[in-house]
Amino acid sequence: MEPINDLLAPETLPTKDGFFGEFGGSFIPPQLEAIMKEINEEYEKIRKDPAFIEELAYLNKHFTGRPSPIYHCKNLSRKMGGAQIYLKREDLNHTGAHKINHCLGEALLAKKMGKKKLIAETGAGQHGVALATAAALVGLECDIYMGSVDIAKEYPNVVRMKILGANVVSVDFGLKTLKEAVDAAFDAYLADPVTQFYAIGSVVGPHPFPMMVRDFQAIIGQEAREQFKAMTGELPNNLVACVGGGSNAIGLFSAFLQDEKVNIYGVEPAGSSLDYGNHAATLTLGTPGMLHGFKSYVLQDEEGNPAPVNTIASGLDYPGVGPQHSYLKEIERVNYTTINNDEAIEAFFEISRQEGIIPAIESAHAVGYAMKLAKELDKDQTILINLSGRGDKDIDYVINNYGKKYGIE
Ligand SMILES: *Cc1c(COP(=O)(O)O)cnc(C)c1O
Repeated sequence: MEPINDLLAPETLPTKDGFFGEFGGSFIPPQLEAIMKEINEEYEKIRKDPAFIEELAYLNKHFTGRPSPIYHCKNLSRKMGGAQIYLKREDLNHTGAHKINHCLGEALLAKKMGKKKLIAETGAGQHGVALATAAALVGLECDIYMGSVDIAKEYPNVVRMKILGANVVSVDFGLKTLKEAVDAAFDAYLADPVTQFYAIGSVVGPHPFPMMVRDFQAIIGQEAREQFKAMTGELPNNLVACVGGGSNAIGLFSAFLQDEKVNIYGVEPAGSSLDYGNHAATLTLGTPGMLHGFKSYVLQDEEGNPAPVNTIASGLDYPGVGPQHSYLKEIERVNYTTINNDEAIEAFFEISRQEGIIPAIESAHAVGYAMKLAKELDKDQTILINLSGRGDKDIDYVINNYGKKYGIE
């Protein structure tokens, strides 16, 4: 079996210091430098270690249920009247989203390094559930930091984490959402980076995390490329994925970056509007800056502090973005665009009612953009959406806030 990222085109790898163009790197307190170096070295070893590769492949197949299928949305495509829409069904993974892909990798690495406890932040609770799952599986303790606003909004996932044996730490400062959860987890990590392993939940943070998380997610695109070719005889003409930190998107995109004929779209949340503080459209409206130990596009105020962000998709609620996405924007390989709250909800109901698939609100942003795009394209064109997660976690929120509008009492 191939080492973990050897199938990726060399041009898509960062420099040895973790830079994608000018973005990425590692800007961390001195007391973390040795630890990050050690994680990087250990990762470089295990990604080539046949025992690790085999163990991860075994778990991907027998625990997560990979490969996730590709599904042709014939009803939705017919209704849009243009391009054929397909889904990569990451929602069918064990735990209901793509995040289990990198959590298994990170948990196995932490175990190999002799760590006792996994810690992480979570927004929608999906990363927390996936990490608590991986921690239970490999036998590590687990602390999950979560904003109290998100704890109230994503209650079912909070209960899941507790059932799985994790300790959920409520974060009560600032906006009490994802950014503050990252700050709190980072502080906890600083206090003890030796026995704890900070399993970052997306392709963000200092090197090697943007690369490592991407490598573990790249299986999405590698599978999809083969599956799509087997199904249709060709590569998809268009890829669409939602972008929070950017892990599910880069997971799909990585296998297609060298295929210049494949158009690639990353969809950010426009929230209630594109006015300051009402969205989390980092690549669309941000500027280069520094956040959580790496350089990337950031939504920031005039003093360079992270700007407030807002979207109905807790998992997309982050004022930064993975450095590789910033690079892909600069070289114009990927088009970054936005979908707002109302459009995401429209897509949430449309795909539920046309195809019998309830998407996560995050993924509904990708569906919403694909619906727009499909209408503009001919019937012989194809769009592959990364359906990053399932919507069970969101149903109470959607019904309470949008039920009436969609005829549900
Ligand atoms: C967390 C999450 C996202 C956003 O994270 P990325 O790192 O941008 O992929 C998207 N969809 C779902 C279902 C999520 O749980």
